[in-house]
Amino acid sequence: MFIGHFAIAYIITYLYPSIPLWVALLGVSFPDLLWPILVFLGVEKVKVNSDSPLQKDLKFINYPYSHSLVLSTMLAFIFGGALSILLNNSLILFVFPILSASHWFLDVIVHQKDLPLLGFSKRDIKVGLGLWNYGKVAFITEYIFYIIITLIFAPTNLLPLLLILGTIFHILNMNSFLGITKNNIFAKGKYTYPIITLLGFTLFIILASL
Ligand SMILES: [Zn+2]
Repeated sequence: MFIGHFAIAYIITYLYPSIPLWVALLGVSFPDLLWPILVFLGVEKVKVNSDSPLQKDLKFINYPYSHSLVLSTMLAFIFGGALSILLNNSLILFVFPILSASHWFLDVIVHQKDLPLLGFSKRDIKVGLGLWNYGKVAFITEYIFYIIITLIFAPTNLLPLLLILGTIFHILNMNSFLGITKNNIFAKGKYTYPIITLLGFTLFIILASL
């Protein structure tokens, strides 16, 4: 999931106005910002199918640190702690791990059964409801979810920007739901897909927080 994650950040900044929007966006993106770095380092593994651009055909072989509920939330707690000291805002310590955990729960809806629960057990339970198997439904569902939450919770002055940004980024991500191209243009090399993920999340956070 991509833009759907950002919607949760708007709920949190609505509930806790002292949390800056960029911090909330960083929190919901934390697993997908950590993931490319760990793939570069060879710690986590993904297999991108060059014959298919669809997200359902990505094979997340191993990603316990970035995408398990328990271990990745613990890492978010450490990162959130550092951020809360840096920004002198103790609320961030508690809210940041919640934001990061929300990423896992939303990913469960769309991913195949590849999301680990604990992240540190050999006999870990892996979950995923596989909405990505129904590309069109997943595409529409994520967009409607984003729009409704944004309309309810986003600050009025940012509403047009966040609606436009969400729409543009969702359209940019369209091929991974609908399979318009036959091949995956991001399958070149080991790192192209992780780089695109990192760029996508980073760019959205920057543009939304300007
Ligand atoms: Zn993710």
